[in-house]
This record gives sequence, C-alpha cells and structure tokens, in this order.
Amino acid sequence: MDKLIITAAVTGSLPTKRITPHVPITPEEIVRDGIACEKAGASLIHLHARNLQDESPATDYGLFAAIIDGIRANTRLITQISTGGRAGMAYEQRCERLRLQPEMASLTTGSVNFPNSVYENSPALIEALAADMQRYGIKPEVEIFDVSMISNAAALVEKGLAVPPLHFDFVMGLKGAIPATVENLVHLRNSLPPGSTWTAAGIGKAQLPMTTHAILMGGHVRVGLEDNIYFRRGDLATNQQLVARVVQLAQMLGREVATPGEARKILNLPEPPG
Ligand code: ZN
Repeated sequence: MDKLIITAAVTGSLPTKRITPHVPITPEEIVRDGIACEKAGASLIHLHARNLQDESPATDYGLFAAIIDGIRANTRLITQISTGGRAGMAYEQRCERLRLQPEMASLTTGSVNFPNSVYENSPALIEALAADMQRYGIKPEVEIFDVSMISNAAALVEKGLAVPPLHFDFVMGLKGAIPATVENLVHLRNSLPPGSTWTAAGIGKAQLPMTTHAILMGGHVRVGLEDNIYFRRGDLATNQQLVARVVQLAQMLGREVATPGEARKILNLPEPPG
C-alpha cells in the first residue's frame, strides 16, 4: 500500500471568522496554516483565496499569487489551486489563476446542486480548464461529487485533454451530492480507471469516518476547515489539529504517512526546482 498523502484544505469558500475564528482568510493566515499543517504531517495543500473586505470567495490573481508564493517559499507542500467558482462565475475568472502554475489544480467534471446553489461546470468549461492545465503542465485533481463525473473524466482522457494515471478526490456527504457511506466509497473506488489514485474528502461529520475508511482502503485523505470545522461535536477545530488526528489514526491503523517528496512520487509529479 502506498504511503498516505494528507491534503489540507485550509479555507475553502464558506467558513467565515464569525463561524469559526480558526479559519485562515488573509494570504498570511493561509500560509501560516500551511506551515503548521506541513509540520503536522500534510504533504499537499488545496488553496482558495478570500476577499479581505467580506471574506467571500476571491478570484483576484494577486491574492492567489501571494498565497502560492508564501507556500512555495516556506514549505515543501504540493500546491493545488481550486478552479471552483460559484454559479455564473465566468471561465476567465476561474482559469486566470492557473498561470501561477501550481503543481495541481482541482477540476470538477460535472455539475451538482450545492445546498443553496448550482455548482455549474458545463462540458465546454471542463474541457477549457483541462486544456489550460495541460498547457501549463498542471496535474488535475478530478473532483468527484457523483459517479457520472468519473466517466466524464475518462472521456477527457479519450479526447487527449488529460493524461492517465488520473488522481481523483471524492467529495462525500455534501447535501445535494453523493452521500458519505462505505458502500458509496467502495463503489466510487471500484469505478475508477485502472492505475488511478484517489483521496476521500468527507464533509462535516462525514470527515472522520471517510478518512478512516480511506486509510484502510489504500486511498488518501483530505481534511481541513473547508470541509469540516469541528474536531468533535460542539468543539471547533484548527487545520493543524485535523491533520494531526489523521496522522494519529494512520499510526494506529498501520499506514505510513508520505512526506511531500514521497507524495510527489505517488502522484507522478516532478520535484519542483530549488
Ligand atoms: Zn476547494
């Protein structure tokens, strides 16, 4: 079994300081949490940016640049930028950040209902983002909210818009998307193209059980305040605590944790210069 890659999804689009004081918002806070998560055992960081005025999801290139520069200067973490956007957000606003050439970027291969909105990813938008990632040498992390998105990813490979082996992230337990059950996790894993790697990201109270199953099944794990703000019921978590808990679980379950260098080998990523 490969060593365990722990992804830290430190901020996302939704939690604000009012919901949890632990969520990082400014580039400085996001970099600080990245450093802490690497120390705790993470090897990959999944990044969003936030507008400083109202903490809403940001598309500003300068904010993404400040975050990526800070992570690169202070950690060995694999950098992964989200290309997510809310309904109606234009392709231009979602692709510009790829010019920063993170090692990976998320690519959602279908549309899904979120609790109060549509997460819209048309076939044309998916193909345009996939083509951009190829142009910049960025490996996609295919974000899966439903089983059909796996076949959509396989279709990208057939069109020459993505190169296998693909890496997938199963986002499970979000209202509107695939429920976080063991049966669904096994089915998603069994539906992957041969040779693929995968990560499980359980939302809310699904984070701990999906993490545990993924460790045992040979998958990888994503935790962090983007997906879940609680350490246990009623007890707010920090990003670092959530990563540290995965390391403890992995130790108890007999799975070794990957360093950033080992994670790059597992994901077929070249070592960054320097
Ligand atoms: Zn995200």
